Amino acid sequence: MALREIRVEGDPVLNKVSRPVKEMTGRMRELVIDMLDTMYEANGVGLAAPQVGVLRQLVVIDVGEGPVVLVNPEIIETSGEQTGDEGCLSVPGMAGQVTRPNYVKVRCQNIEMETVEIEGTELMARALCHEIDHLSGHLYTELVEGELHSASYEEEDEEAEE
Ligand code: ZN
Repeated sequence: MALREIRVEGDPVLNKVSRPVKEMTGRMRELVIDMLDTMYEANGVGLAAPQVGVLRQLVVIDVGEGPVVLVNPEIIETSGEQTGDEGCLSVPGMAGQVTRPNYVKVRCQNIEMETVEIEGTELMARALCHEIDHLSGHLYTELVEGELHSASYEEEDEEAEE
C-alpha cells in the first residue's frame, strides 16, 4: 500500500483545473489504488486526484457502501436541496455548513473506461458535488455559509448536549 501526501489549502495545485483521463494506464490504476488507500487511512469519504497533487479528472468515494471510482465525472442532473456540515481532507480539522443538491446524477467512466451513470442522495450526493468541485479547482470553503469551525470542537459540543 502506498500512501500519497494529501495537499492542504494554500497549495496552488488545489486551485487548478484537472485534465481528462484519456487512457487507464498501469500508472493511472496505481494512482486509483493509492488514492483509495490514502482516503481510507485518513478516514475520508472521498478524495480527488488534485488533493494528492495530480491534475487529472479522477475521484474516489466511499460513503460506507464500498469504493466508487469516477473517471472524467460530469454532473448531468440534480434536484432538491440539503444543508449540512461538510469537511475536506485538504482543510484538516475544520467543518462548515454548505447547501448542496439532495440528489445528483453523474456521467463518468469506470476503471475499465466504460461510460456509466452514478446517482446518489444525501451524503453520496454531497460527496459527488464536493469531489467534482475539486477537479475544477474549487474547495467547499468558498461555499460555506457562516464561518468555518473546528470539527473536533463540534464533537465536544454534541457530547455536551447529550
Ligand atoms: Zn475535499
